[in-house]
Amino acid sequence: MEAGAAPFSNWNERIHAECYRPNARLGNFEHISFNLGPTLCEWMAAYDLQTCQQIVAQDQANLRRFGVGNALAQPYHHTILPLASERDKRTQVAWGITHFEHRFGRKPQGMWLPETAVNTQTLSILAGLGIQFTILAPWQAEAGDLDVTEPYRVDLPQGRSIAVFFYHGGLSGGISFNPGMTVNADLFASHALKLHFRPDKIQRGEPQILLLASDGELYGHHQPLRDHFLAHLVNGAASQAGLTPTFPALWLKHNPPRRSIRIREDTSWSCHHGVERWKDACACVPGDQAWKRYLRQAVDRLAGRLDALYADNLLAFMPDPWAARDAYIRVVLGMQRADELIAGMAGRRLSDDDTLRLKLLLEAQYQRHKMYASCGWYFEDFDRIEPRNCVAYAASAILLAQRATGIDLVSSFSDDLRQVVSARIGLRGDQVLNDLLRRAAAV
Ligand SMILES: [Zn+2]
Repeated sequence: MEAGAAPFSNWNERIHAECYRPNARLGNFEHISFNLGPTLCEWMAAYDLQTCQQIVAQDQANLRRFGVGNALAQPYHHTILPLASERDKRTQVAWGITHFEHRFGRKPQGMWLPETAVNTQTLSILAGLGIQFTILAPWQAEAGDLDVTEPYRVDLPQGRSIAVFFYHGGLSGGISFNPGMTVNADLFASHALKLHFRPDKIQRGEPQILLLASDGELYGHHQPLRDHFLAHLVNGAASQAGLTPTFPALWLKHNPPRRSIRIREDTSWSCHHGVERWKDACACVPGDQAWKRYLRQAVDRLAGRLDALYADNLLAFMPDPWAARDAYIRVVLGMQRADELIAGMAGRRLSDDDTLRLKLLLEAQYQRHKMYASCGWYFEDFDRIEPRNCVAYAASAILLAQRATGIDLVSSFSDDLRQVVSARIGLRGDQVLNDLLRRAAAV
């Protein structure tokens, strides 16, 4: 229950009613490039399967018509990947790909990165797992004369590469933060959009793409009626202005990158201090934010302890516990039973006790990945629902690992959380943890 979401009982329900459902009913998902976060998508499938199916059908319509779909995959838990370990990056990307295949019934070509946070290791993992392109902000390119009207190739170690589309900064900022720009779709197409195409390319008859990126929840939730603005833009206004709607996978089919570019390491679209916002104080957010540093340190140390327990226990039965973790999302999504996965990875059926222990440890890994969701560090104060949720996921991982092994990780985590303090009300992380554990024990 989330009070701010009234008259709905929580934010998912409210944003669904204001944005996802109306945009699906209007057919807007067929005409834009979009990603649907896996955890949101799974919530939606349970709450309103029809809308989820409409969104998938709108991707399928493009697949039938053009041979490529327009939906993008996303790493599973909205983790800021440059701040994650290499192994965690791989798991998040692998889980996101499996989820996409499960829901959309095809392999993803593109992946949207949480907060477009990127570094070379992140792109290498994407390319290594078969992802062909991503989308970044223009200031994430290491280039003085970036031309955003075409995609670029980023060369990566081991002979790999990936295509990157850079969105138009001015127009994307305008649709996100200047509601006056998106009142009239006809004017938007004929003036705002048309003015930003390059005259030299028009003169030479060269194709060019203008990509605008925004939070999808803008269309009807953050800004009322913009679902209808979007519908009119993609169903008439753009073509009347002489423009052809397209999407990155379709564009790449006919216009592969002609030039290569380097990215700026550890950068993102919503913090101009690299990725500082999600680990420490930065000028995007006012006030004392030492809590961010200590919260990240606490969860990193907890993750290290959980991983050691996990590896110790699973290595007795299988050569690669981390491959088992990457495959575990199939169990979460109901595609495979946990005992089958464990028997498959171990090469034999284990005793009931061993199977249960491994299953609990796998589930603890799943919970510990949730605690890295970026929103835990996004805002100004520790005393908010997002950082509290982060501690709750950590507590859930601890309890599962304890059930599996009898080893108590509460006290070390609680000690680390003592340094996490809300500057506003003085609330400490260990108090939040203890409160959660007390409530869990009472259930
Ligand atoms: Zn910042």
